Amino acid sequence: MARIVQKFGGTSVADIDRIRNVAKRVKREVDAGNEVAVVVSAMAGVTNQLVDYVNRISPLHDAREYDAVVASGEQVTSGLLALALQELGVNARSWQGWQIPIRTDDVHGKARIVEIPAGELEKRFAQGQVAVVAGFQGLGPDNRVTTLGRGGSDTSAVALAAALKADRCDIFTDVDGVYTTDPRIVAKARKLDRIAYEEMLEMASLGAKVLQTRSVEMAMNHRVPVQVLSSFVDAPGTLVVDEDEIVEKQVVSGIAYSRDEAKITLEKVADRPGVAASIFGPLADAAINVDMIVQNVSEDGRTTDLTFTVGKADLERAVKVLEGKQKELGFARIKPDRNVVKVSVIGVGMRSHAGVAQKMFQTLADKGINIQVISTSEIKVSVLIAEEYTELALRALHTAYGLDAA
Ligand code: ASP
Ligand code: MG
Repeated sequence: MARIVQKFGGTSVADIDRIRNVAKRVKREVDAGNEVAVVVSAMAGVTNQLVDYVNRISPLHDAREYDAVVASGEQVTSGLLALALQELGVNARSWQGWQIPIRTDDVHGKARIVEIPAGELEKRFAQGQVAVVAGFQGLGPDNRVTTLGRGGSDTSAVALAAALKADRCDIFTDVDGVYTTDPRIVAKARKLDRIAYEEMLEMASLGAKVLQTRSVEMAMNHRVPVQVLSSFVDAPGTLVVDEDEIVEKQVVSGIAYSRDEAKITLEKVADRPGVAASIFGPLADAAINVDMIVQNVSEDGRTTDLTFTVGKADLERAVKVLEGKQKELGFARIKPDRNVVKVSVIGVGMRSHAGVAQKMFQTLADKGINIQVISTSEIKVSVLIAEEYTELALRALHTAYGLDAA
């Protein structure tokens, strides 16, 4: 007997037939003698619709009411799936975040889970009952409903698996696993059998949209074995596991890309101590995250150009903040650029192999692609290039690192 958490995303519960299918999958695990908790998302498109309603009534809304509205999508699917299971003769009931309760912090709209008491669910397991839990939602310290940020039901599932000490957390989605890169762009992309937590974390935070970044962080911290698989085909997916459990380590396991960043260049910034602090301070105060940064050498010893990236959604605000400080900061010109993409190669094998970055730079150079900004960490190299080269760069890098499917 195993204890399993199964999570079904929005496309897996998009209509009544699919919910019935999900119920059959759950029943299979129950029939195999396992204890099962299920976490569900809202039906595909529902959360977007709810967010839109909120924004139309109140663009600068009270985040607590936003949560009250957007959490409702998952309430519907948890009830419907419990009913579908009952129709199949499975003992099941739905649980809302506040009933368990899934305790979170007070950051409405993007709350973090702080505690999930397992006792009541475990008691029900012993009676053979399946728990169908509404994902994405919790209960804040103010006793009001919170939500965990878009894509948050992945995190609900992993957190529940950790709290229940589950043997496995299966994340069912509309793709059959984690790929070496986006298969819609690179036809030769391959499904990975296994990927290390750290690699998955980079992949998620660098633009691969399969799992919410926070869910991977949580899986890594609590060593929850996660499997990403399709709810539409009957095949094993990708296991997200500890690095030690991967026998054949690739130097590069995957290539991610993100069109969500924009570039800002400040020309002729004074080259003196404290300047970077005085530029990035006001951005931080405005809650604008800066990602990649380069500072050019100053030719005359007095001024330099400074280039960095921010989220595309924050670009206008960032420009406004900096323009407001132009006198104080003393730069000559500010040049925003939305036409960029960040491409990253990722792999734990990089720790022990030299030349990974060099191969990336050479491959891009051979294709005549100019690199605008570079950043690296222990297990990734990222470059910023012009957006129109996205496809070309991904395909060339995929081949260069030997990732192409046979
Ligand atoms: N329904 C929520 C969303 O669309 C949470 C989730 O699906 O993970 O963001
Ligand atoms: Mg999702």
